[in-house]
Amino acid sequence: MEVKFNILNRQFEKHQNEYETAALKVLRSGWYILGDQGKLFEEEFATWNQAKFCIGLNSGLDALTLAVKSLGIGDGDEVILPANTYIATVLAVTNNKAIPIFVEPDEYYNMDVRQIEKVITNRTKAILVVHLYGQIADMIQIQAIAKKHGLYLIEDCAQSHGAMLKGKKAGTFGDVGCFSFFPTKNLGAFGDGGAVVTNNESIAETVKMLRNYGSKVKYLNEIEGANSRLDEMQASLLRVKLEHIEEINSERKNIAYQYIAQIKNDIVQLPKLSHSKEGHVFHLFVIRTKDREELQRHLKEHGIETQIHYPVPPHLANCYKRLNYKIGSFPITEMYANELLSLPIYYGMKSDEINWVISVINKF
Ligand SMILES: *Cc1c(COP(=O)(O)O)cnc(C)c1O
Repeated sequence: MEVKFNILNRQFEKHQNEYETAALKVLRSGWYILGDQGKLFEEEFATWNQAKFCIGLNSGLDALTLAVKSLGIGDGDEVILPANTYIATVLAVTNNKAIPIFVEPDEYYNMDVRQIEKVITNRTKAILVVHLYGQIADMIQIQAIAKKHGLYLIEDCAQSHGAMLKGKKAGTFGDVGCFSFFPTKNLGAFGDGGAVVTNNESIAETVKMLRNYGSKVKYLNEIEGANSRLDEMQASLLRVKLEHIEEINSERKNIAYQYIAQIKNDIVQLPKLSHSKEGHVFHLFVIRTKDREELQRHLKEHGIETQIHYPVPPHLANCYKRLNYKIGSFPITEMYANELLSLPIYYGMKSDEINWVISVINKF
């Protein structure tokens, strides 16, 4: 039996007619950038998150980069962020010439709240928190730290669409929440896409200008902007997918709970929930083991594809040699990078595939 890491066709096929109708409507409309579909998606995504504003953008990286920029963070400013994250989180800081200040992860793989205050200096401008693998970070405590020190709070929600804490969605605890709609994400488009949500009108206005060459009125360029618009095709397809997001998230959770209940192997450490069940939407199902290479090979021999998120932590990436970090700078992050393994989990995954993953791991 073969189990792929992800099969994106499955989610398309589940609602194929709806996607095809939406796509044709855009093709026939003759309007492809900044139109009705984009506006409607922004309204619907803002409402779903219980946020006042949403601005559709080109990617998750742009959402993060423009969010940092909209807060006036730049040259020499410090931004505190997790060491255990995808490189995009860090690029958003360095794209703005600001300095990333890394914090080690806790046992839930999110930023360890106890380490944040130790690295605050008089150059610190913001905390950029990531809800990694779909699990919401400790936002109540992080909010309190940000408030106490007068820091902006930015959320990287690229993996956590719909994760909740105390009835509030990830992305609405800070000044601005940043989303990716890369096809594999819980709310994935059929191409690139991203968005920010915020309750702050001036951040919303600034990001709206930044995404369109820094202009409100065509050819009147107020600030140095970018081209980062969510196109009409992606917006209309995302509107369809947003109608099914609860089903998508609950299916992912069900797969995760089956793994948690049924994987029984002493060499494997399963993910833990840091809050209630609504706090984790399982973008990824990440286990930890000292025998990763052998387990990955064993799974592959039995037809099961796995991935590693992420094999090289950003502070050790070649592109950040100038930051002068070495092996041992962030030992917990580095240990995780050597031990983490992501199992297949996706909308449309079949029960015989789930059961095969479980039984192959249990026999290792
Ligand atoms: C995917 C991802 C991003 C970047 O999103 P893109 O749309 O690919 O630019 C940023 N942060 C995290 C944590 C991600 O997983």
